[in-house]
Amino acid sequence: MKCKICNQFFLMETSFQTLFHFEDICSLCENVYSPILQVEVIPFQGGLIHYYYLYVDLTIDFSKELYLMKYLVKPLNVAISHKNDFDIILFLDLDDYQNLPNWFTYFSSYKNIMFYSLGIFDLSKYVRIF
Ligand SMILES: [Zn+2]
Repeated sequence: MKCKICNQFFLMETSFQTLFHFEDICSLCENVYSPILQVEVIPFQGGLIHYYYLYVDLTIDFSKELYLMKYLVKPLNVAISHKNDFDIILFLDLDDYQNLPNWFTYFSSYKNIMFYSLGIFDLSKYVRIF
């Protein structure tokens, strides 16, 4: 098999259990890119932003990042299980993060906001708009 992240070939033992299930990534990448759901709670104007992310240091190209987006099911499960706790749930990508000062004023009237992203974005950069 060829790993979808590092593009290296790797061997996988085939058995009846794995006969129709092939691994997409090698064991090394599986260890390095194992997602860990983390949360930061940021107070703003009488409300709270719950910011969920999976990776602290994610420096891979976008095509490989797309593969890792399958792990976004973790924060989505949090969003679904706590759907009554959040007023609004937003996915943050790089464009959203860079333009946060432009669009956040539209959402500042909400009191419980959930942001989620694949890699962490430094929201302390925008502390003056919160
Ligand atoms: Zn790999």
